[in-house]
Amino acid sequence: MSSQSSISAGAKAKIDFCCLQEGCSGVVDFNLTQIAQNDFQAVCPVCHRAYTLDPVLRDKLERMMKLIEAIRNSEDILGDSVVSVNVAGGEVRVPYALLLTRLNTLITLNLNGKQVDFHLWVEPSSPETFR
Ligand SMILES: [Zn+2]
Repeated sequence: MSSQSSISAGAKAKIDFCCLQEGCSGVVDFNLTQIAQNDFQAVCPVCHRAYTLDPVLRDKLERMMKLIEAIRNSEDILGDSVVSVNVAGGEVRVPYALLLTRLNTLITLNLNGKQVDFHLWVEPSSPETFR
């Protein structure tokens, strides 16, 4: 599919989570595009503990990647949309694209029987998204 190339070609959709190893403060990170590989493992840079993703988790992350692709493909539309946020004394209008790409997403998933917070970092495909 040609639409997949947009994210594999240099797009950054990074996920990280805190290492589950007792006493380790390492942050394990990997690129979402890597998880499609069958032998994918995420390795802690500090204690070198390896994490394999079970099929359920991998499926969720793959769907997350598709969602990011869909957002990316709609950047020109979303770039013209704003979200109104009510604050004390008025209203702030946040461009949708900014909301989707600059605010870091937190997803909580089950990893090895433990609830783990995954941080998702997505960078816009082009700086022109932010006018
Ligand atoms: Zn570790």
